[in-house]
Amino acid sequence: ESKLQQVHKHIRAFPDFPKKGIMFRDICPILKDPAALTAVIDLFEDHVRKNHLQVDLIVGLDARGFLFGPLLAQRLDVGFVLVRKKGKLPGNTVTVEYDLEYGKAEAEIQEDAVAPGQTILLIDDLLATGGTLYAACELMKKQQAEVLGCMVVIELKELNGRDKLKPHNVFSLVQY
Ligand code: 5GP
Repeated sequence: ESKLQQVHKHIRAFPDFPKKGIMFRDICPILKDPAALTAVIDLFEDHVRKNHLQVDLIVGLDARGFLFGPLLAQRLDVGFVLVRKKGKLPGNTVTVEYDLEYGKAEAEIQEDAVAPGQTILLIDDLLATGGTLYAACELMKKQQAEVLGCMVVIELKELNGRDKLKPHNVFSLVQY
């Protein structure tokens, strides 16, 4: 059984969550299975190494990006930085506003988290419309960091998040 098959097997679908008409992809079974979690991090690590990405920092998105990001960062022997929903980070922060399906949200990082010129990879569990990762890219631009790409476990292809994130590259393990 391949690593990809192992990851695929540990993703569950819940219809009508969090509301009617939405098919929620649940990654909790991956975290519950050490071999599946290792497979995810292996595949991310392979991608970074095969593409010779010289990454200074992994930047994870609130909240499920925090589950995978630090593990990958340790493999690569680099640091991990958090992009959080507004109001969660102490000290001086940089903020961007972005659109949700209904209304707006704000994403933040600590002002000193990323230095100008540093190369970063963004990581989250899932790419849907791309609004969340787009906001994180905007934060990186504000901090003059260089985004080498976005990595997600799951990509929902019909929502075209990949196009929204252009010219940044998106690497996904499983597509629906
Ligand atoms: P986007 O901003 O691309 O539309 O939505 C992606 C964000 O919403 C990610 O941070 C992701 O965690 C969350 N999200 C949206 N739909 C799902 C889903 O079906 N499963 C999971 N695990 N997360 C989702």
